[in-house]
Amino acid sequence: MARKLAAGNWKMNGLKASLSEATALAEMFPAPKVDILLCPPATLVAAMAAALDGTKVDVGGQDCHPRSSGAHTGDISAEMLVDAGCDYVILGHSERRADHGESNALIAQKTIAATMAGLAPVVCVGETLDERESGKTLEVIRHQLSASLPDAVDFDKLVIAYEPVWAIGTGKIPTLAQIAEVHDDMRETLSARYGDDEAGKIPLLYGGSVKPGNAPEIFATSNVDGALVGGASLKAADFAGIVKAL
Ligand code: PGA
Repeated sequence: MARKLAAGNWKMNGLKASLSEATALAEMFPAPKVDILLCPPATLVAAMAAALDGTKVDVGGQDCHPRSSGAHTGDISAEMLVDAGCDYVILGHSERRADHGESNALIAQKTIAATMAGLAPVVCVGETLDERESGKTLEVIRHQLSASLPDAVDFDKLVIAYEPVWAIGTGKIPTLAQIAEVHDDMRETLSARYGDDEAGKIPLLYGGSVKPGNAPEIFATSNVDGALVGGASLKAADFAGIVKAL
C-alpha cells in the first residue's frame, strides 16, 4: 500500500506573513494519520522549514536544477533545498513545463538529482484539454511517465501527481471515472516498468481544483493516494479540510 500524502503547492504566492498559515496547519495536526507537505516559493523555504521544525508538516521546493552547483543564475539545486530544510521537491509541474519549456528528459534529470540529494520527488504529469478531447489522455500520460522518470528511483520516496492541465485553477475536475481510469492506468504502467511491489509503494496524487468539498469523493476513487493542492493550500482552514478528508 502506498502512503497517503496531502501536498500543498503555494506556487508564486506567499510572503513572510503567510508563514502563520503553515504554523496554524501544523498546530491542527500534531499527530496526523497521513503525510502533510507544504511547498512554498523559494524565498520562504528556509523560514518555513524553521517555523515547522519539530512539527509533522514537511516542506518542499517547487523545482530544482539537475546540477548540484555552478553558473546557473536564478536556479536552485536539490542540495540547496535539502540544506534549507526540505524533504520534497515538485518536478515537472505543468506550469514549469509551459512557462519554462521543460521537457520530459529534463524532468527525468531533475528527478535523478533530487533522488541523489535525498529528496522525495513529486513528479507531475497531465494532459491538456485538446489532448483529452482528442482521446489521447492515456497515451500522453504513459509517455510522460516513461520519459519523465529515470530507471533508478527511490521507491520509498517517489511520488507521482496526475494533474489535468485544464483542471488546474479552473474549478473544473474530471469525473471520478476519468480520474480512476488514469490512476489505474498509471499504476499498471508503473508496475510494468518497475514491478508490482515497487509500483505499489508510489503514492499517486490527484491535482487540479481539489477543495474540502470534493476531496472525500476524490480520495475514495481507485488508486488515489492523496492530492496536490494549489489554491486551497494557501489557507490553513481550507487545507485542513482536505487533510481531514484523506
Ligand atoms: P489548484 O492547483 O488546486 O489551484 O487547481 C493545483 C496544482 O497546480 O498543483
